[in-house]
Amino acid sequence: MFADVSLPVPLTRAFTYRVPATLEHRVQLGCRVSVPFAGRLLTGMVVALNPDAPEGGTRDIARLLDEEPVLDEDLLKLGAWIANYYCAPPGEVFRAMTPLGGEVHRRRVFELTDAGRETARQLVIGDLTGDRGLQILRLLEARPLAEATIKAKVENAANILRTLEKKGLIARQTTDEERDPLRAASERLRVEFTARPSAKLRRAERELLSYLELHPGPHNLKSVEEAVKGAGHAARSLGRRGLLKIEAELPAVGLALREVGPRAERVLTPAQSEACARIREALDVGGYRAFLLEGVTGSGKTEVYLRSIEACLEKGRNALMLVPEIGLTPAVAAQFFERFGEGVAILHSAIGDAERAGEWRRLREGRARVAVATRSGVFAPLDRIGLIVVDEEHDQSYKQQDTPRYHGRDVALVRALDIGACVVLGSATPSLESRYNAERGKYTRLELAERVEKRPLPKVEIVDMRAEFLETRRMATFSRRLAAAIAERLERGEQTMLLMNRRGFSSYAACRKCGERIECPNCAVTLTFHHRERRMLCHYCGYAERPPERCPKCDSEHIQFLGSGSERVEDELRSAFPKAHVARIDRDTVSGKGSFERILAAFRSGDYDILTGTQMIAKGHDIANVTLVGVVSADIGLSLPDFRAAERTFQLLTQAAGRAGRGGRPGEVLIQTINPDHYAIRFAAEQNYTKFYEKEAGFRQAMRYPPFAALANILVRGERKDQAEAWAAELGRMLEPSPEGVKVLGPAEAPVARIRGEHRYQMIVKAASRQRLGEILASIRHHAAQQKWPAAALILDVDPLTLL
Ligand code: ADP
Ligand code: ZN
Ligand code: ZN
Repeated sequence: MFADVSLPVPLTRAFTYRVPATLEHRVQLGCRVSVPFAGRLLTGMVVALNPDAPEGGTRDIARLLDEEPVLDEDLLKLGAWIANYYCAPPGEVFRAMTPLGGEVHRRRVFELTDAGRETARQLVIGDLTGDRGLQILRLLEARPLAEATIKAKVENAANILRTLEKKGLIARQTTDEERDPLRAASERLRVEFTARPSAKLRRAERELLSYLELHPGPHNLKSVEEAVKGAGHAARSLGRRGLLKIEAELPAVGLALREVGPRAERVLTPAQSEACARIREALDVGGYRAFLLEGVTGSGKTEVYLRSIEACLEKGRNALMLVPEIGLTPAVAAQFFERFGEGVAILHSAIGDAERAGEWRRLREGRARVAVATRSGVFAPLDRIGLIVVDEEHDQSYKQQDTPRYHGRDVALVRALDIGACVVLGSATPSLESRYNAERGKYTRLELAERVEKRPLPKVEIVDMRAEFLETRRMATFSRRLAAAIAERLERGEQTMLLMNRRGFSSYAACRKCGERIECPNCAVTLTFHHRERRMLCHYCGYAERPPERCPKCDSEHIQFLGSGSERVEDELRSAFPKAHVARIDRDTVSGKGSFERILAAFRSGDYDILTGTQMIAKGHDIANVTLVGVVSADIGLSLPDFRAAERTFQLLTQAAGRAGRGGRPGEVLIQTINPDHYAIRFAAEQNYTKFYEKEAGFRQAMRYPPFAALANILVRGERKDQAEAWAAELGRMLEPSPEGVKVLGPAEAPVARIRGEHRYQMIVKAASRQRLGEILASIRHHAAQQKWPAAALILDVDPLTLL
């Protein structure tokens, strides 16, 4: 038997391996296997099995990682679609689709280039002792090695590596190495008898097999060790030879969310009833159908999802609910547990690998029938899916920022179409794409135009910060209006949320004398000042240095810290309102797992009066006592050179405003801006999505941006600027003159011209047809492969969310 294996390498084709006799009948479609490839072991996905030997020699599969398929045929097919649509290597797609990503870890290694291999070969005969460069080449001849390994073997290796790299004899590569699962502690392994082997066995191995044969079914290895002496070692050894079924044990799920309060039977609003009825009808009919549930903030979309999922389960079909990265709080999960109890599985990137694997298994075995999941949960192993809900469908976290750069919402639609399921996309501020699809009749639009219990939408006021400055002659973080409103809330014991969508204390440091700005040495961006840690930090690569005391260019002492961030807002809140309890949520305060939820829960229960932070505070949260939302600066992000800048600003402001007045008392929102006339800000203040859509759609149509064209961003990266530029120019020539129905912008330097020491050039392709775009991208990928560009040099982003 021979297996075609898709590998995580930048090639489209699969590679054929022989199935060794020990694995005969065990290797199945959709299982992961470990195979030798270019001098190392890689994990790949079995995508085809056939009895005929291919031409030429083949190597053996080294190990089988899954006794049962991790992807069924539908998911394999979905993976193939993703690979094609997003122009990504299928092996990378399958890896992203499998749940136990934690078993594989990325490693930076050095490997020989062709020139290096040649040099090593030619010189290998002579006396090489003393030449550490050649020593390294010879080490690498055997296999790629991590820098640390080389350093341990060769003195002063760092310098030599750099020289060899400059000479083009070695290159850095990122490889994936699987961690040996059999190295796990015995408590975490499960063993099961398969067959009595004919191989010669040691005593402990024989005893173990006899024991397991007499006790059929899976056993925890730890407990077997108590019965059979030396079982731990024997089991691993048998497992490695494929003579015993051994796999990681999946611990029970210990989410502390299971307590369930009494369920209040709710009377649906008429709009909720209508939406539920329409979705139920579609479920009754069966087959694919997509809805866009457009509901203002606080209109009770979640209730519609819950009832629809209930209806789906009643039909005997399973349901999948996707939520944005930070949308899956315990408060949200609790609503699902309350409704569906143990039938819910949670797939979230913030839960540990083992726990996630456990939840995954419960879904696969049908013990859980509802999955609540973030982006990659779109691949949840549920069969007979009847309904997929995508909450906050406009949210950016649905788009993966690494290869494969898929969009979870769009993959959900394709999966549903494929298996004949319904889809509900919900949002108060749908993406332009989704609303456009609804207008064209591809989705059925359902509207929840009012908040539940006839609560009013919050009253929004724009505070013109230019006028404020003229009147006060002061550049203040809080306008007089906003400061007064906060004070009022403190007096009344109500809560305030303050949005400042930028981290750090000041956004940059500059010299007052010569104008020099302090930039990251690796990236073409300014460093952000973080006050508490007293350091300048790069938000792209994580580089940090001490705040400068003198200008690095002219040596002047007059360094100014300009621009504001969430840290400064917190600081100024504390000095302006010394009695208030203030908390901040951004990526600096919530690095650890669960700290986001902890702060949010404390705010919810009234421990804090004011919560400030970045967009993390703006999304989804439903906290009744918040009656004031302030936006410190609506202008951040508005001026970015990105065609989605206005859309993103509108969404953020509308969502933030929607946090106010969700309880009994009406809410108030104050938006500070220096662009009070900008349509994104004006329509957000009116909370009028339709007006915004119409204006923005007109602009997109005129400029031929999505949803009126198929868009891709072609990014070329290189450590040497001239090299990156030359590569980009090569691609540019391929698209010259622009093919019919295609518009090409660039190649030009990307807006952020350098990140992590890599120079970046980009080309933006707008095509009237998807097919056209696909052909162009395929030819570009082909060119890069033919010219043997390094894997990291070319990035193709189909339907990019950002062009930065
Ligand atoms: P959205 O997601 O549309 O902003 P939510 O689903 O968070 O709104 O609902 C807002 C609040 O209204 C929640 O506290 C929810 O429990 C409550 N709610 C939902 N439907 C009803 C209803 N029919 N009657 C009363 N309260 C409701
Ligand atoms: Zn200076
Ligand atoms: Zn940097």
